[in-house]
Amino acid sequence: MTPEQTTLSGLARDVRADFPILVTDLDGKPPVYLDNAATTQIPRHVLDAMYNYYCNDNSNVGRGVHTLGMRATDRFMRSRERVRAFLNAAEAREIVFTKSATESVNLVAQGFGTQVVSDGDEVLISGLEHHSNLLPWRRLCERTGATLKVATVDEHGELSLDSFRAKITERTRLIAVAHVSNVQGTVNPVREIVAEAHGHGIFVVVDGAQAVAHRSVDVRDIDADFYCFSAHKMYGPHGTGVLYGKAEHFERTEPLLLGGGMAPIASYDGPLVSVPPLRFEAGSPNIAGMVGIVAAMDYLDDLGRDEVGKHDAALAVRAAEGLRALGGITVYGAQVPRGGIISFNVDGMNPHDVGSHLNSFGIATRTGVHCASPFIDSLGIIGSVRASFGVYNSMEEVELLIASVKTA
Ligand code: PMP
Repeated sequence: MTPEQTTLSGLARDVRADFPILVTDLDGKPPVYLDNAATTQIPRHVLDAMYNYYCNDNSNVGRGVHTLGMRATDRFMRSRERVRAFLNAAEAREIVFTKSATESVNLVAQGFGTQVVSDGDEVLISGLEHHSNLLPWRRLCERTGATLKVATVDEHGELSLDSFRAKITERTRLIAVAHVSNVQGTVNPVREIVAEAHGHGIFVVVDGAQAVAHRSVDVRDIDADFYCFSAHKMYGPHGTGVLYGKAEHFERTEPLLLGGGMAPIASYDGPLVSVPPLRFEAGSPNIAGMVGIVAAMDYLDDLGRDEVGKHDAALAVRAAEGLRALGGITVYGAQVPRGGIISFNVDGMNPHDVGSHLNSFGIATRTGVHCASPFIDSLGIIGSVRASFGVYNSMEEVELLIASVKTA
């Protein structure tokens, strides 16, 4: 263990002990976990909330008058209200629980997209989207006869409002864009994109998977028609996601799944009456996941989301600066990354080899195309090494990353 690995500063010093997995040893080294854009680690507070739920309140929801059933139902209803408050949505019925950001985008594409997009129309996405905010739209276009168009990124791999303006036509019906790029942490001007789109009567879906853990998100301020994310990238559990949608849009959205819980009654041939949000949540819900996402939101809000964002961004800025100063390294994106993510390559080395080298120091990074192959292609590379930061990462870990890259 190096001296750098034993000292922690700033927010990391205060919160590190909250994360059981980070105080274990990995092959004799403390983990330096810099793969937060893929999945964040879970604080004890969230683990305890889920454990306590299973120990004290576990049952199914909305089905029984017994005490545990009522407790589980109460947790379930309160979770929706907590998520509403987290996003500053107007009403709890605008919050739908899914299993992931991916499922959320698919629900919008299949349930809403098919209602508003038809043959000859256009769906516009950006050139830096994650596959989860690309493939569902591609399929929508294939099924409806619409055309998929792409707003191009500039020479830094960044998006501007103008790049969308240039691609909007009178046939554009829907825009899907990431709030924050999962490859290089660029924060996209989603508020401006939404305002421009609404001026043309275009619906906007914002993929907030890389945003919610790093900044306050106010869906009414952004004014997006839909906004989605996953709990496992914001210190919560896997298998839990959220889709926010304006109430009037959910009224016309078709469900992906049909089954128990979505409608008060069902028959063999009568009309199926179901209302949002339960219309989109057929089957027994992931109640422990909802308890977990609420605990994660409380955890983040106790730390202060904007404070967390500043911390993560400061680490990314120092990492970019330190790596650039080494020479022989390309750090992608503008000079100052604004989210807590950077992507880089060591000249002449395969990113996977760099990742393996870093792993030998206990440093976890992501290597490859980051589920954003068209964007990686547009940068003219086969992949990159991505370091992404969270609340428990420290400047000492960033220095260790830089020092370890140097030895590559
Ligand atoms: N969008 C972005 C920008 C992402 O980074 C990710 C996850 N890497 C997703 C969507 C998909 O998230 P999930 O796998 O949790 O559905």
